[in-house]
Amino acid sequence: MPESVLRQARDEMLDWRGTGMSVMEMSHRSDDFVEIAETAENDLRELAGVSDDYAVLFMQGGASSQFSTIPLNLLGDKSSADYVNTGIWSKKAIAEASRYGEVNVVASSEDSGFTTIPDQSSWQTSADAAYLHYTPNETIGGLEFDFIPDSPAVPLVADMSSTMLSRPVDVSKFGLIYAGAQKNIGPSGLVVVIIRKDLLGKARRETPTMMNYQVIADNGSMYNTPATYSWYLAGLTFQWLKAQGGVKAMGEVNRRKASKLYGFIDANDFYANPIDPRFRSWMNVPFTLADDALNGEFLKGANARGLLNLAGHRSVGGMRASIYNAMPEAGVDALIQYMTEFAKERG
Ligand code: PMP
Repeated sequence: MPESVLRQARDEMLDWRGTGMSVMEMSHRSDDFVEIAETAENDLRELAGVSDDYAVLFMQGGASSQFSTIPLNLLGDKSSADYVNTGIWSKKAIAEASRYGEVNVVASSEDSGFTTIPDQSSWQTSADAAYLHYTPNETIGGLEFDFIPDSPAVPLVADMSSTMLSRPVDVSKFGLIYAGAQKNIGPSGLVVVIIRKDLLGKARRETPTMMNYQVIADNGSMYNTPATYSWYLAGLTFQWLKAQGGVKAMGEVNRRKASKLYGFIDANDFYANPIDPRFRSWMNVPFTLADDALNGEFLKGANARGLLNLAGHRSVGGMRASIYNAMPEAGVDALIQYMTEFAKERG
C-alpha cells in the first residue's frame, strides 16, 4: 500500500470527514458510504479506461473465488473453455474450471519450467469455447505476457491480480478482467471484476447467488454487505494513483524499476533470473543467489535494512522482489545497493 494512503486511512480512522464515525461503522446503504463506493468505481473507470459497456464489480473471496465464479457464469450452454497454462496461478484456475466443464489447455509453458510463453500461433484454441482464459502475470514465477492474446471468436478472460493498474491496458480487448486487490489496489479479500455487460445473465442455475455476476451487478455490488473498509481503501489508492499521473506515468516508473533490477541481476554473476528476457515480469522479480546456502543470511541482512518480504514463494524458494505500484524507485535502488554489497562480501 502507498504509505500516504495508510496515513490518510489512519487520520480518518476514527472520524471520516466529520461524521463522527469510522468508515467501518457506516451502513453500506448510507449516503456517505455510497459516495465512497461510487467515487471509487468512477476513479477506477477513469484510471483503467473502462467504458459503459462494462460493469465494475467489487466482490469478495479474493481472486481464487473467481476461478470458480468465472466458469459458473460464463460457460453458459457451452461445454468447454480454453485456458493457457503459464504457471501456478493458471494451474489453479484450470483445476477449478475443470469441475464445471471441459478445459482445453491450448498452450502450456510447463516444458520450459514456466520460463517462457509459447507463441500464439501455436495455440490450439477452439472457436467453440465459452472463453479464453490466461494469466497476464504469473506472480510466483515472475513470467509475464508482453502481448494481449488475440481472441476474435471468444471472450478473453484475464487474471490481472498482479498487473492491474500497473500500466495502461486496452480494456476493450477483454470480456472479463479480474484482480485480487492486494497487489495494486487495496487489502486482500476484495476482488475487482470488470465484465462486458453482454456476458452478464448467463450463469448456470446452480451458481450461488453471491457468485452470480448479474445479481452483483444489479445490486451495485451490495447484494450483501460488501467489504466496505477494503472498498474505501481501494478508493484511496485510486486517488493516490490519479495524483501520481495515472497508469501511464505509473507504467513508466514500473518499467524503469524492473529494467534496473533485471539489468543489475544480469550484470552480476552472483545473481540469476531464469525467465526469457522478453517475458520477465515488471511486478515480481524472482532471483537466486549463486549459493542457496546463503539465502538465510541474505534475507537476514535484507530485513535488517528494512528490505522486507524478499523470500521467494514457499513453492519455489529463492528470492522474489515484488515491486508493485506502491514500491518507490528508491526502494529498488536500496535493494540493488544491498545486493551489490552482499555479492561483494560473499561472492
Ligand atoms: N491469481 C494471481 C495471479 C495471484 O497473484 C494471486 C495471489 N497472489 C491469486 C490469483 C490469488 O489471489 P487471492 O489470494 O486473492 O485469492
